[in-house]
Amino acid sequence: MIESPINEIDIVKAKTSKIEKVDFNNLAFGKTFTDHMFVCDFEDGKWQTPKIIPYQAMTIEPSARVFHYGQAVFEGMKAYKDENDRVFLFRPEDNHRRINKSAARMAIPEFPKDYFFKGLSELLNLDKDWIKPGIGNSLYLRPFVIATEPAISAAPSETYRFMIICSPAKAYYKGKVRVLFAEKFSRSADGGVGFAKAAGNYGAQFYPTSLAQKKGFQQIIWTDASTHEYLEEAGTMNIFFRIGNTLITAPNNDRILDGITRKSVIQLAKDLGIECEVRRVSVKEIRAAAQDGSLKEIFGAGTAAVISPISAFEHAGDVFEIDDIEESYASLFKQGILNIQHNEAEDLHGWRFEI
Ligand code: PMP
Repeated sequence: MIESPINEIDIVKAKTSKIEKVDFNNLAFGKTFTDHMFVCDFEDGKWQTPKIIPYQAMTIEPSARVFHYGQAVFEGMKAYKDENDRVFLFRPEDNHRRINKSAARMAIPEFPKDYFFKGLSELLNLDKDWIKPGIGNSLYLRPFVIATEPAISAAPSETYRFMIICSPAKAYYKGKVRVLFAEKFSRSADGGVGFAKAAGNYGAQFYPTSLAQKKGFQQIIWTDASTHEYLEEAGTMNIFFRIGNTLITAPNNDRILDGITRKSVIQLAKDLGIECEVRRVSVKEIRAAAQDGSLKEIFGAGTAAVISPISAFEHAGDVFEIDDIEESYASLFKQGILNIQHNEAEDLHGWRFEI
């Protein structure tokens, strides 16, 4: 960690707000941005004084390393508002820890914690009106770092830009998701960058996912790269399987993102007395459970959609439908997490972080 005590943040407020033009009932995910953004440059070996300025386009040289080598990492987190106009984040220390873990893997300097939190808090104070109260409403926050040095030799950048942009959001996925189990393509490999939120991990999924979509499946469940026999995670979600009354999710490893929602589901399962096994789960086991009727649910867990129930999966040309069940674990966890995020439930584990 590079320690540099935070100076004041230089703030330039937007002259006018765009908020009046936004239809909060019809938000396409990630397409509308608030009035301000946070910017902090890394130059001369250290993070410089951060700024908050009006959201705007910026100028970067075409030679900037990010464009050539994808030296970039990001985070995804959300701010929520309760009925008393108080603003909360959900386990933000984990996002800070994770962006630095991702950064380290991509040879990007770590971002100081006090900058991260002061930046979030000033930015959210300025753009507070963009966070609407009510379950399901949130402000999606996208911290990210890009390599800005104008130089195209294949080497890490000497300069970087850390930014936070904010986008008002409703639930990400609408309805249930049909998925395809990966048999040919891989998302990540041992010793690779799968555990990091590195930009290239996502770009590399677009093509295989578009092929899946042509076949009628919105998402791919990635399998281990060497055998394609074990189920790992989806493109932007960790995955849970319910066989009988037991939940199963893959253990974290080099290839899987250590999801904050996943970890929260595991803890809530414990609190509720639901058995949850963290172990490898094979395609064979899930196919067999689907065939004998013991596979009750599959759902994804991630910040954007919280919990996404999966209604069918395809593997080796076979499609398995998963029937709806009453009192699903998916809805139980979704409600449980939303209630904590929106301050309607007791926050037993101190996950809520007031801004
Ligand atoms: N896996 C991947 C690959 C992701 O991009 C995400 C989204 N950050 C997740 C899982 C879920 O993580 P979280 O619950 O922290 O959002």
